[in-house]
Amino acid sequence: MRTPIIAGNWKMNKTIEETKEFIAALKDFSLENVDAVLCVPYTSLGILREQLNNKIKIGSQNIHWEENGAFTGEISPLMLKELGVEYAIIGHSERREMFGETDETVNRRVHAAFKHGITPIVCVGEKLEEREAGKTKDVVKEQTEKAIANLSSEQVKKLVVAYEPIWAIGTGKTSSAEDANEVIGYIRKVIANQYDSQVANEVRIQYGGSVKPENIRSFLSQPEIDGALVGGASLKPESFMALVEGA
Ligand code: 13P
Repeated sequence: MRTPIIAGNWKMNKTIEETKEFIAALKDFSLENVDAVLCVPYTSLGILREQLNNKIKIGSQNIHWEENGAFTGEISPLMLKELGVEYAIIGHSERREMFGETDETVNRRVHAAFKHGITPIVCVGEKLEEREAGKTKDVVKEQTEKAIANLSSEQVKKLVVAYEPIWAIGTGKTSSAEDANEVIGYIRKVIANQYDSQVANEVRIQYGGSVKPENIRSFLSQPEIDGALVGGASLKPESFMALVEGA
C-alpha cells in the first residue's frame, strides 16, 4: 500500500515572520496514514526546523547537483540536509518555464537528492497547447523517462512524482479526477517499462493544480493518485490542515 503524501509548495511566499505565524496557527492535527510535507523558501527552512511539530516533514523547492562551488544562487544538498530537509521539489514547471530547467538538469538534481538521502518530488506536466494537440502522454513520458534515467530500482521505489498539468496551476481550473487518474496511471506504466511493475507500484504519484480542501477527496479517491502537491491552498494554516486531514 502506498501512503498518500500531501505536500505544500509555498513558492516565493512568506517571510520568516509570516512563517512563524503560520506555524503558531497550526493545531495538533492528526496525521494517520498520510505524509505531510511543507516545501518552503530557503529562508524559512531554519525556523521550520526549530518550531515545526515534527510530524510535518520539511522540503525545499530545488536542490543543486554539486555539493559546493561556483554556482551563484543555487543551493547545495549538504546545506539542505543541515536544515533537516527530507524532500526536494525538482523540475517544477515554473523552473522549467522561467529558469531554464531541462530534463537533463532535473535528472542530475534527482541523482544528487538520492545521494544525500533527500526524496525528490519530480514534477511533470503538459502545457495547454500540448493537451489540446493530444500530446499529454508524450510529454509526461519524455519528462518522466529522462528525470529518472539511471537510477537504481531501490531509488525509484522511494521517488515521488507530481503530475501537474501546467494549465491547472494557479488558475482555479483542475483536471477532472478521472483524467488525472488516467495520466497518472500512464506515468506508472512508463516507470514500469523503464524498471518493472513491482518498482512502479511503489512510486507515489501526486496530482497538482488548483487542489483545495473542497476537491482533494475527489482526487485521492482515484486508485492511481497518491496525494497532492498544493500551491495556493497550502499558504493558510487552516486550509493546509484541512488538506492533510481530508487526505
Ligand atoms: P496551485 O495549487 O496554486 O494551483 O499550485 C500548484 C503547484 O504548482 C504546486 O506545485
